[in-house]
Amino acid sequence: MLSDIEIARKAKLKKITEIAKDINIKEDYVHQCGNYIAKISHHYLRELKDKKDGKLILVTAINPTPAGEGKTTTSIGLSMAINKLGKKSIVTLREPSLGPVMGVKGGAAGGGYSQVLPMEDINLHFTGDIHAVTTAHNLVSAVIDAHIKYGNDLDIDETRVFWKRAMDMNDRALRQIVIALGGHANGNPREDGFIITAASEIMAVLCLAEDIPDLKRRLQNIVVARTRKGKPVTIGDLKIEGALAAVLKNAIDPNLVQTIENTPAFIHGGPFANIAHGTNSLIATKMALKLTDYVVTESGFGADLGAEKFLDFVSPTAGFKPDVIVLVATVRALKYNGGTKDFEQENMEALRNGIENLRVHIENLRKFGIPVVVALNRFSTDTDKELEFVIKFVENLGVKIALNEAFAKGSEGALDLAKKVLEESEKESELKPIYNWHDPLEVKIMKLAKEIYRASHVDYEMAARNKIKFFKKYGYDHLPVIVAKTQYSISDDPKKLGAPSNYNFTIRDFELSAGAGFIVALAGEIMRMPGLPKVSNAVNLDVDADGNITGLF
Ligand code: ADP
Ligand code: MG
Repeated sequence: MLSDIEIARKAKLKKITEIAKDINIKEDYVHQCGNYIAKISHHYLRELKDKKDGKLILVTAINPTPAGEGKTTTSIGLSMAINKLGKKSIVTLREPSLGPVMGVKGGAAGGGYSQVLPMEDINLHFTGDIHAVTTAHNLVSAVIDAHIKYGNDLDIDETRVFWKRAMDMNDRALRQIVIALGGHANGNPREDGFIITAASEIMAVLCLAEDIPDLKRRLQNIVVARTRKGKPVTIGDLKIEGALAAVLKNAIDPNLVQTIENTPAFIHGGPFANIAHGTNSLIATKMALKLTDYVVTESGFGADLGAEKFLDFVSPTAGFKPDVIVLVATVRALKYNGGTKDFEQENMEALRNGIENLRVHIENLRKFGIPVVVALNRFSTDTDKELEFVIKFVENLGVKIALNEAFAKGSEGALDLAKKVLEESEKESELKPIYNWHDPLEVKIMKLAKEIYRASHVDYEMAARNKIKFFKKYGYDHLPVIVAKTQYSISDDPKKLGAPSNYNFTIRDFELSAGAGFIVALAGEIMRMPGLPKVSNAVNLDVDADGNITGLF
């Protein structure tokens, strides 16, 4: 099979104005960025306000292998297949971060015959949204340090500035640094560090904001530090929410591109799925719902993280809910959950052990009251016997399952999946969240730990206990919880594969994302600034004299 970039280069793209016209976007709202990418003004939503929403399909996955199991690839293939069936569908996805593109994971624009294009641009800079977030983020840092240098009227405690600097690169050397060395003119030295831009609260805020006033309100509420007396210091206190919103003025508009089969795709925003909610901007999803019959959207990481956050936090925030959930599974990830890393060999025993992971995710998702369809993403190394085993297992649970071959065959490979998804989307459903936002913080966490992570008990370390007191004192404890934990297990331990149960779930600490509107519960070590491997993908990436890029996948 050809490489992703070779397949991408053979595709015949339509002009983006045509794609916009196909979904009836008024010309005035289309801001072209070259021939194949456009920003669609979010103000268009006002005009669409009274249109009925299409149906929403949420794509999630079981606990993966480190290579990813194909949520993006499945989302794109499914949306193309729905179009192929004569219905209208838009896929909405996150923007790839440069860190993983240069690291090991590669791009995030799908793969094989299930891609969004132009994948080179989408993977590298795109329309500059991530850079705008970086700039806004670092403006906050610069203002904080200038404020401290010039008298520190807010009485910011320099040892409790939580706001680190940001950049969109895997650069572990910047995780922990000392800034302002070199004497009086350079400010007051203090400890600082960098996070990757996708982990910035401004990214989360951009993806949750309804419009510019809501963006400003959320930015204003972001807590960046504490005073020497312990009081939260917000961006509102620094009086720069207006400047930040100005920097983000274009970044708030969703980006329209197309799939390899010329169907529409919105790619907008890219918050992390561990310390944030992990899905593309609400504006993009809302606009897509107004413009089409079926919107396919992806949530990051496995269903214990991405889907849970989508259903308990994103849906209530946005005021929409999925009509169907597509749970992506692969034979590889099931075998990995069953204890092997050798995916080339048929291994029924590993599969039989690992399939418990799929069972847990199906049970978990059913608790939310939304119909579930399993998409079995086929890899060339899967054997018929292995595929058959998974299909039987899922059917015995009374759940629909379809083989997904969109990677190898494009929409043709996802028609059966699309049919099953459309059937299930006709069922009436009501979203039943796992917890109530007004439950006490410890109750919210206990419900998640028991119902989703299958723990029997929650332990809080000292730092976490102190933060709970802080949240209560300043009125933040009513916020929903975003749990930051490993994506490799339903538990807080990446080594507990399959279906762990009856263990203690440990909350180490909390962080406040008051602008985004959630409390982050840290269960385990969470990486906010990845590092490059010994041989990074940067060694493969190249561009020729004609501007053709190679080495992206
Ligand atoms: P996720 O969104 O779950 O992280 P992706 O869809 O980005 O996963 O897929 C991860 C990687 O695996 C990508 O490089 C993609 O091209 C590749 N991939 C996905 N499905 C298949 C498949 N069926 N066969 C081979 N490679 C695949
Ligand atoms: Mg993905």
